Amino acid sequence: MASRHQIVTRGVPVGGGAQISIQSMCSIPFTRYGELEAQALALQEAGCNILRVALPDHESAEPFKKLRNALTIPLVADIHYDYRLALAALEAGADKIRINPGNTEKTHLKLVTDEAKARNVPIRVGVNAGSLEKDLLAKYGAPTAQALAESAQRNVELLEQLDFNDIAVSMKASDVRMMVDAYRIFAKNSPYPLHLGVTEAGTLRSGTVKSAVGIGSLLLDGIGDTIRVSLTADPVEEVETAKILLRSLGLYDRGVEVISCPTCGRTTVNSIELANTVEREFRDIRAHVRVAVMGCVVNGPGEARQADVGVTGANGEYVLFRGDKIIRHISPDNILPLLRREVEDIAKQKS
Ligand code: SF4
Repeated sequence: MASRHQIVTRGVPVGGGAQISIQSMCSIPFTRYGELEAQALALQEAGCNILRVALPDHESAEPFKKLRNALTIPLVADIHYDYRLALAALEAGADKIRINPGNTEKTHLKLVTDEAKARNVPIRVGVNAGSLEKDLLAKYGAPTAQALAESAQRNVELLEQLDFNDIAVSMKASDVRMMVDAYRIFAKNSPYPLHLGVTEAGTLRSGTVKSAVGIGSLLLDGIGDTIRVSLTADPVEEVETAKILLRSLGLYDRGVEVISCPTCGRTTVNSIELANTVEREFRDIRAHVRVAVMGCVVNGPGEARQADVGVTGANGEYVLFRGDKIIRHISPDNILPLLRREVEDIAKQKS
């Protein structure tokens, strides 16, 4: 059920069979521009494909422009209520704007859609369970999946009536079932690309689980074109989590993938620490390299055989495998740099 429609923002296609893109959002205001730019560049470096910032006032338009010029990835302006800010964002070079058309008078909305169309800038209709229209809340009694989908449809129609079709849609809720059901309802009848996300998903651990369940369920159904994992954490973690989520579904083929066992009484090395260190410190490797980090020889060689490279604990040291071949025995003190060298070597061969 991949979306038929495709939007393109600063060269990044979304929908229409394009690779699922990863989004994140800066968490630093424009008043701390230096820190904001550093965060945005870190997100770009981590693999964020589309980045969003809140544009809360007119003073932010100039630094928005500067930030957009510092990046090579698209920069999206998040506008909630003020059409004049949407116009200012477009003037400042926004690659996409996120608004809720229902919050804007039609004559004002037309000014925005005309300007966006002239600049080939898409608009994301961003429906959120926390800010549903009053009449829908009265109709349904509370935020529901049906209400979210109806709100999205209504907002899309407002844009269509103005002959604007360069649209993406999101329907976010912190309730995973509600969010999943809303997208399923909406996707049945809509051709527009869908931006998936569980909003206010929580801290690193609970937000990761909620996002994996919500976004993952939809992607397995073939619904969704771009994702944002929303975490109460450094946004770089959102991107890293999104990469793992997509990779686990076979939808992302870059970076180091760690396969590791939970360990048990047979382990004679600290493979838990090694697996976590590899996942954290090998993030800069771009090629897809599967690294098995196993506690002992019971399952270690088997996993190592299926990975590009594997290490497994044995008698207090590590055995390094490439395929079926034992390359060498390595002491725990030396394992990290030697494993890194192997991974870099494999990455070079693959790129
Ligand atoms: S690979 Fe070895 S250490 Fe790891 S869980 Fe299996 S038996 Fe235990």
